[in-house]
Amino acid sequence: EAAPSTIALGSRFAGELNELAVPWQAEEAPEPELLVLNEPLALDLGFDPTYLRSGEGVRLLLGNHVPEGAMPVAQAYAGHQFGGYSPLLGDGRALLLGEVEDARGRVRDLHLKGSGRTPFARAGDGRAVVGPMLREYIVSEAMHALGIPTTRSLAVVSTGRQVRRESMLPGAVLARVAASHLRVGSFQYARATENTALLRRLADHAISRHYPEAAAAENPYLALYQAVVTAQASLVAQWMLVGFVHGVMNTDNMTISGETIDYGPCAFLDAFNPSAVYSSIDVGGRYSYANQPVMAEWNLARLAEAMLPLINEDQEAAVPVAVEALGAFRGQYSGAWFGGMAAKIGLETAGSGSGAEAVTDLVDGVVAILRDGPVDYTLFFRNLAKAARGDLRPVRGMVMDLAVFDAWAEQWLAVEPDAGLMDRVNPVYIPRNHLVEEALAAATAGDLEPLWALLAAVQSPFDERPGLERYAEEAPGDFGNYVTFC
Ligand code: AMP
Ligand code: MG
Ligand code: MG
Repeated sequence: EAAPSTIALGSRFAGELNELAVPWQAEEAPEPELLVLNEPLALDLGFDPTYLRSGEGVRLLLGNHVPEGAMPVAQAYAGHQFGGYSPLLGDGRALLLGEVEDARGRVRDLHLKGSGRTPFARAGDGRAVVGPMLREYIVSEAMHALGIPTTRSLAVVSTGRQVRRESMLPGAVLARVAASHLRVGSFQYARATENTALLRRLADHAISRHYPEAAAAENPYLALYQAVVTAQASLVAQWMLVGFVHGVMNTDNMTISGETIDYGPCAFLDAFNPSAVYSSIDVGGRYSYANQPVMAEWNLARLAEAMLPLINEDQEAAVPVAVEALGAFRGQYSGAWFGGMAAKIGLETAGSGSGAEAVTDLVDGVVAILRDGPVDYTLFFRNLAKAARGDLRPVRGMVMDLAVFDAWAEQWLAVEPDAGLMDRVNPVYIPRNHLVEEALAAATAGDLEPLWALLAAVQSPFDERPGLERYAEEAPGDFGNYVTFC
């Protein structure tokens, strides 16, 4: 006897924004197999893990069993991809199954990726393969553990279907959970319809779900825009501080909620390198590590353009207001980044303690040392905490110019950096590129052990544990230049 379905899904998005929602069904999977299930997340959503592991539960995670009352939809959106505008993108291989309330009473989307062709599929096959879906699972769960706003991963189910890529690869569907799937591109799509009532309904939906306090503002739509600017400034600062390169920051891959979304050709820095690019398709380096704040600001300008008719009916009057609101991005980003980098070297920026000028000089100094490299970005800061505790050898063994480092370190140690703070903000375990590749290759060949081990390491990233040394080490010298394909 199968366990009874414990899952009820809302269809609020489909109901309130039906112009952006195409009811659709997932493709049948010939031979489903649950590869990984996020039990803590399932429980947080009120889902019974035993049910999700049952035949019907697995079919639900594929979209093949639709719980009563649910209405799966493909969402419409537009977007700028590498700077070029596409008026119609949408979920070509994804479905919003519906909404669910988590243990804290927050509304979450349950969404599938790789669930088959939709009316937005264009030339695509609607499918996804095991490797990239597991990459999204690993990296999104690592980001969550790092405290960075992100969509979560609930499960990956292999379909039993071979999918044509460079070679034939095993197909899979990712079930993911998000505050919502509203994107900058959703607003671009609504704006392009020239239906201002639809645009307003979309904005009201976004306010209600993400920024309810904006409803009380004198201009709620301006307040919504300002809230998105603030959320994205904070998000991208957190990416930069942890060395995350998203890889494909198109406007359809930027959320209104401020969560990281759509893990495709993403990677973490190994050696610090401002111009690092990992995506095989980003030949111009548009979405390089150092360019991410600039690209976030560019995307937010596109959001402002889409929202102009809401900010003021008189568009000419709306423009300077939007420009001023976007103008807040740089200060907010810099403030978040600077505070975070100061913490990475064990210094508080708020309150008494070391003088502000000294902190600025020390942050500038550490960035200069990183640029002088090549040093492993993650390991550098963990070794620097050892230096704060009196053992300078590990970090001195990493840097190129010892004279420059020693001069900086003398100034730095003089202000008494807080090694405990450093260990709370500098991860020891990140999903290192060579470990991710190792886990994905093994999983694709049927061995899930390396995936479990890597997940166990990155799900508790700040807490150094014996036996996990290889998860903290730099990439082997022969790993070479990392290239990702999405
Ligand atoms: P992405 O690069 O993942 O952000 O996707 C950009 C657009 O391409 C979105 O509209 C996706 O739904 C669509 N897309 C990506 N891969 C596929 C696929 N295999 N089949 C259909 N549509 C796809
Ligand atoms: Mg996308
Ligand atoms: Mg995608």
